[in-house]
Amino acid sequence: PLVLGIETSCDETGFGIVRGTELLANAVASSMEEHVRFGGVIPEIAARAHLEEYIPTLQQALDTAGVTLEEIDAIAVTSGPGLAGALMVGVAGAKALALAADKPLFGLNHLVAHVGVGMLDGVAKSGTGPAAVVLGEGNLGGEESADRPSAPLPESLGALLVSGGHTEILQVNRLTTDVTLLGSTIDDAAGEAYDKVARLLGAGYPGGPVIDRLAQQGDPKAFRFPRGLSAPKFVGTSGEPGQHRHNWSFSGLKTAVARCVEQFEAAGIPEDQIPTADIAASFQEAVADVITSKAVRACTEHGITHLLLGGGVAANSRLRSLLAERCEAAGIGLTVPPVRLCTDNGAMVAALGAQLVADGVAPSGLDFAADPGQPVESISLPA
Ligand code: ATP
Ligand code: MG
Ligand code: FE
Repeated sequence: PLVLGIETSCDETGFGIVRGTELLANAVASSMEEHVRFGGVIPEIAARAHLEEYIPTLQQALDTAGVTLEEIDAIAVTSGPGLAGALMVGVAGAKALALAADKPLFGLNHLVAHVGVGMLDGVAKSGTGPAAVVLGEGNLGGEESADRPSAPLPESLGALLVSGGHTEILQVNRLTTDVTLLGSTIDDAAGEAYDKVARLLGAGYPGGPVIDRLAQQGDPKAFRFPRGLSAPKFVGTSGEPGQHRHNWSFSGLKTAVARCVEQFEAAGIPEDQIPTADIAASFQEAVADVITSKAVRACTEHGITHLLLGGGVAANSRLRSLLAERCEAAGIGLTVPPVRLCTDNGAMVAALGAQLVADGVAPSGLDFAADPGQPVESISLPA
């Protein structure tokens, strides 16, 4: 089926078009620049930007794919989770399009859509197990991926989603009907921790890319920062499930970095002599260590043999390398889509929509509302 996917849950306005598992277009406009001076995404500004970018981005996707709205078989839109106002713009626009063009409409789960990207041709082919394959930008659909073994994502699939709003590990028994949450952050998301630490170090916003860059010049062993919820009491002393076994916590880490900076200040060290690169590298090591160790353990304990990485923090160099290393050691296959498909986009929504159409799942109709807290078990909204 030819499916249009619409994503507006945060600061990206995304319109993607797929034909089955083939990616035809992925147009994304971001309002990130408008949020920089506030040091975080302002929901009202994001919602207004979606409104302004809606039609131009839709048109761009249609032009790139070389299709018209009339030719589309179904429309899929992110209904949640996400920012209420931002989601509402996406859903209202999708309903208007579906009504005007007389197309079936699906309201989809944003997190499951991140996994849906793994069904796209070039991405699915890139996954091999147990050896981990980390894809760079631009490999999707290229000659290189055509040469790779065609290995559709396996049955026992896990998804590790790390972004500014989410840090979650999902078990995907069946993409269109059966997804469960194995663990998540109990406080800050990983990307949020990056943003907060970047602010502490005066490094800029968004924090992910600036800390990643700063960390390249630092020593990751300079400071030992806490790995939240990885103490034995959270694991179970003899292998039994402990509380928060597969959950993460990043607020203690953020506080530890703040104390570290304060100690230098209290000792009268001038600001420009505080070893920010070492702090950044040590922080990044703690984040990558605790995310990957707990993700791999969740996979091992739940019989997951293949892991898909998604979310903006998937761009992180240390997370990628450590995850590849640890998955390989544990015999877990790994798929890391190109960054433009890891961050929020419409192609992932279209990809999940196409799977739902192919599986004969009933569309959501026109009466559903955006659900900012949509649980992961709710893959598509019922009519
Ligand atoms: P959502 O949580 O709904 O998916 P989001 O806008 O917060 O939305 P993304 O757009 O997927 O998430 O990703 C943005 C996040 O990714 C930001 O928090 C940013 O700091 C982080 N990020 C980007 N590049 C890197 C990097 N190299 N290292 C670590 N984090 C990064
Ligand atoms: Mg974003
Ligand atoms: Fe996302």
